[in-house]
Amino acid sequence: MPTEIIIGIGLAIVVFLFINGINALPLMVIGLLAYVMQNYMDKSNIIKTSKPPEASKTITFDDIGGQETAKNELLEALDFIKNYDEISKMGIRPLKGILLTGAPGTGKTLLAMAASNYIDSAFISVSGSEFIELYAGVGAQRVRQLFKTARELARKNSKRHCVIFIDEIEVIAGVRGKNTNHLEYDQTLNQLLVEMDGLSAKEDDVKILVIGATNRPDILDPAILRPGRFDRIVKVNLPDKEGRLQILKLHTRGKPLAEDVDLEQIAKETFGFSGAHLENLCNEAAILARRSGEKVIRHCHFMEAIDKVIMGEKLNRKPTKDEMRRIAIHECGHALISEYFKPNSVSTITITSRGEALGYMRQKREDDIYLYTKSYLEAQIAIALAGAAAEEIMLGDGSTGASGDIDHAVDLAKEIIFSGMSEMGVVDRDSIPLKELHKEISKIINNQKEKVKEIIEKHKDELNKIIDYLMENEKIDGETFRSFLKDLKNFKAA
Ligand code: ATP
Repeated sequence: MPTEIIIGIGLAIVVFLFINGINALPLMVIGLLAYVMQNYMDKSNIIKTSKPPEASKTITFDDIGGQETAKNELLEALDFIKNYDEISKMGIRPLKGILLTGAPGTGKTLLAMAASNYIDSAFISVSGSEFIELYAGVGAQRVRQLFKTARELARKNSKRHCVIFIDEIEVIAGVRGKNTNHLEYDQTLNQLLVEMDGLSAKEDDVKILVIGATNRPDILDPAILRPGRFDRIVKVNLPDKEGRLQILKLHTRGKPLAEDVDLEQIAKETFGFSGAHLENLCNEAAILARRSGEKVIRHCHFMEAIDKVIMGEKLNRKPTKDEMRRIAIHECGHALISEYFKPNSVSTITITSRGEALGYMRQKREDDIYLYTKSYLEAQIAIALAGAAAEEIMLGDGSTGASGDIDHAVDLAKEIIFSGMSEMGVVDRDSIPLKELHKEISKIINNQKEKVKEIIEKHKDELNKIIDYLMENEKIDGETFRSFLKDLKNFKAA
């Protein structure tokens, strides 16, 4: 019955009793207390499913691009559940939990949904933060309720299994005793452990599989990771080039693509993008195409969408002409040195303000790199310093625009030192004196800066031509940029 009707009836009774000379105050207090208690119990029992259950029904492993290792590991674990009768004869117990770990947007939720579909189970999705309330005991109550709801849902849908997907599991499964409100957190985690321990009960007609997801496996309580709870830990990494291509194919399915769209090229240009970034990229490209009044999405829309996804929307903010020239000099400095160390590496240079950046130079990578050599890191330091060096050479002084580049160069120098590749040899990063560290960082950085200044000095004339072009057009693609350097025979050796 709606609350308004109950309150109306209650008030009518109170008025009736009052008219008949009966003191209704105690009755009112009891009613109010009962109402508050009921509300509290209702709230503590609420399990909000973060994703509509229908969404899970349509996702299969074919809808997930890349992630082959994660898919295979997950599939093997799921086969144990699917073929439970067969494997139980061998004395193998089914898995109770699978933990998916990895960067945001890599497809953990999708994998959980596909897993649920694969074993034809009911699916409930919750987030760790939904369990935590100020009141002690509410989280534990919600965990009990969650497992109860999961069983009911499976029975209602005539399923033998239910997948409970807990996103951001670190919120409830962080190391116990570490939280300020730790009693509530600890009780919630304890209840989750109790429920998971009870999952293998033979008489249970519904088998429950808990799939947890986290970006922070490092802060999880060891108790949750011990075998018998989350038996499988599946790493979901950022996709490699092949994975990115597959994801791009999935997200351009059904979109009107022009013939010039080269998805392989886009996959190359999107190193470090997660699946969520790539989905967003395809969407932004379509929006850009529509904005420019076209019926199909062209390659240039994807290229602009990459800039947008990395840097943010174009800003109306227009720097002064002098500032624009400084930005152009800075970005061309980065590009010249990038091309010097790695021919063909410049993808675009732009001096249009986007997000936090006034301008930027984007490099393309031919291959994903997992190990960095000393010469690679030194070249990256040189590229980072080249913006400031170009400003100093062409304008006589530097600017605050280089502070981010300096931070980046320092981080790279530290990487050289801590990997034992500097002149200091092998060092212990925790006990190296700060003064020594600082001296070595400065040495590495100053060496590179000298080299960079020399190269820029030699190519001042070509640089000036590129800067003029950039001032006029605001953007220059890699090919055009290289055409300005073409006349320089053997550019690298010059
Ligand atoms: P978070 O850690 O932030 O919760 P997540 O890892 O759970 O993120 P999902 O919610 O599964 O990421 O993915 C977000 C969106 O990104 C998906 O809806 C999908 O559009 C896209 N996506 C991510 N990974 C993939 C993939 N491997 N294949 C296809 N699409 C993907």
